[in-house]
Amino acid sequence: MNEKGTISVHTENIFPIIKRFLYSDQEVFLRELVSNAVDATQKLKQLAAMGTYEGDTDRLQIRVSLDAQKNTITISDQGVGMTADEIKKYINQVAFSGATEFLEQYKDQDQQQQLIGFFGLGFYAAFMVADKVEIITKSYQKDAEAVHWTCEGTTQFELTKTVKKEVGTDVVLHLAEDAKEFLQKDRIKSLLDKYCKFLPVAIDFDGKVVNNPHPLWTKAPSTLEDKDYLDFYKELYPFSPDPLFWIHLNVDYPFNLTGVLYFPKITNNFEQHQNKIQLYAKQVFITNEVQDVVPEFLMLLHGVLDSPDIPLNVSRSSLQADSNVKKINTYIAKKVADKLEELFKQDRKAYEEKWSSMALFVKYGMFTDDKFFEKTKGFALLRNTAEQNFTLEEYQEKIKPNQTDKDQNLVILYATAPEKQDQYIQSCKKRSYDVLVLNEPADQHFVNFLEQKLDKVTLKGVDSAPVGQLIDKDESQENVLTEEEQKKLQSLYTQAVPDKHVTWTVAAMPADEMPVTITVPEFAKRMHMMTSGVTMPSTSLALQATINANHPLVQKLLRSKKEEKQRKLAQQAYQVALLAQDMLNGSERTTFIQNQIDMLIAL
Ligand code: ADP
Ligand code: MG
Repeated sequence: MNEKGTISVHTENIFPIIKRFLYSDQEVFLRELVSNAVDATQKLKQLAAMGTYEGDTDRLQIRVSLDAQKNTITISDQGVGMTADEIKKYINQVAFSGATEFLEQYKDQDQQQQLIGFFGLGFYAAFMVADKVEIITKSYQKDAEAVHWTCEGTTQFELTKTVKKEVGTDVVLHLAEDAKEFLQKDRIKSLLDKYCKFLPVAIDFDGKVVNNPHPLWTKAPSTLEDKDYLDFYKELYPFSPDPLFWIHLNVDYPFNLTGVLYFPKITNNFEQHQNKIQLYAKQVFITNEVQDVVPEFLMLLHGVLDSPDIPLNVSRSSLQADSNVKKINTYIAKKVADKLEELFKQDRKAYEEKWSSMALFVKYGMFTDDKFFEKTKGFALLRNTAEQNFTLEEYQEKIKPNQTDKDQNLVILYATAPEKQDQYIQSCKKRSYDVLVLNEPADQHFVNFLEQKLDKVTLKGVDSAPVGQLIDKDESQENVLTEEEQKKLQSLYTQAVPDKHVTWTVAAMPADEMPVTITVPEFAKRMHMMTSGVTMPSTSLALQATINANHPLVQKLLRSKKEEKQRKLAQQAYQVALLAQDMLNGSERTTFIQNQIDMLIAL
């Protein structure tokens, strides 16, 4: 036999065109050829299991080897091999028609870049790096003759008889000029690590097996211990701290999905957590861009997903519309919610310790996915300034007796910057009000979200009103001032502090509250947070200054006959109030400091 022929493809010179298209993704040739070797090996094992093949299949290996002199990469397997007829059918026709189809479909689109990585090009990918490809193969079938196929990157091929002892296939790539980099050991080793690390058949490169054919996610969860999961995490992300917990996925109906998802310790550097989920199809690495497959709020998770049911050769929009992808997405969200519930119920203390690292995921999940909210609302935690944790329900119970207003609304008080708002928090404490800490990025939305979701509940920043007005209980505090005195007081302050952002009012407050309290109304504060993303308000906002009618300073001010002294007292009372709000800046800050020093001297 010595056959020459023409491969029937619709487009002449399809090779250079495809090569140009695929240039940026050249490296996937290795993934494709090694996966074919894996397929062939597994087919032979199956035939042996069925009794159709009688040879030994226990130690079948794949070998990848480089020959710098001959300028070749060879991928050898001990799998089913091919007869001459099979080569004609599967290589000349199937593989090539797949490539033609690919070209037809994507020739005119400008999205090739993102599609190519997802497209299983198959055997044809060999031509992305080689200008000549040889196949030397011997079928497992009794008395099969070994054959040798050669193709030089045109539509012509040559097929001859040859001698080969062992059953299996060698694919020899004669590297093209622009693909010489693939002769470097390190380059091939890193590609094998990237694409073939978890392939199910042992791969020998440079005398060593370079893959783990039985990765953790393919094993039964019941056979695994915590240490196995932690070790696997280290294998995937050698430099990361241990994860908080993990979920082993294992479904075969209505879609096929295995994998392990880890909750990492979140650091503030979110970038670091992006694209850490690897998507596999039957242990072949496909991509680490898993948008749409994983709910967006879980994109910071780490780990591995393996599913043959995710279509890989389609655009993003059709991926989103795919029913399996939707189901998988929903399933993952549900599994995460189940896991949280399990942790919460099994060991509340451990759960509370992990909460701050998970809060961002969970809150974000609650905002974006109503089902997730319904599942997790029972174990989302609120933390107060005393670092106690409560579920939403527990917290409402706790504050009900003391923080219900005259209209039977529950008022939740919160601090966005507890260190800086200590003055306000202490005022609340004096009245036995509890204060939540809501100081994380997601909390700006969480405040609005809680109000929407909880019935008859309002949230107010601790510094949104003088403490006596935070929760309107319809109890009035006695005011010792006459109306005339109040007017005088107000005008004294307005003159001493000529700032148009400030509105002055006089209110009866307990004598031990500050002489002046500066507040930013809740509405203005939320608008500010939404538009600026900053939790602490600034002096450019409309400020409310409340003069405490019952403070001893008032009498001192009213009785003084010296205008200069009155002005100074009012100014300083205002500056103290600014200080409490962390708004004392610029020249006012300097004046305040100077006054303090003067006072030290005068003492
Ligand atoms: P796919 O793997 O998706 O079927 P490919 O283009 O990769 O498409 O391969 C085409 C066909 O060629 C395979 O289905 C298989 O029948 C045959 N083939 C390719 N490589 C090998 C191999 N190493 N051993 C045996 N058969 C092979
Ligand atoms: Mg293939």
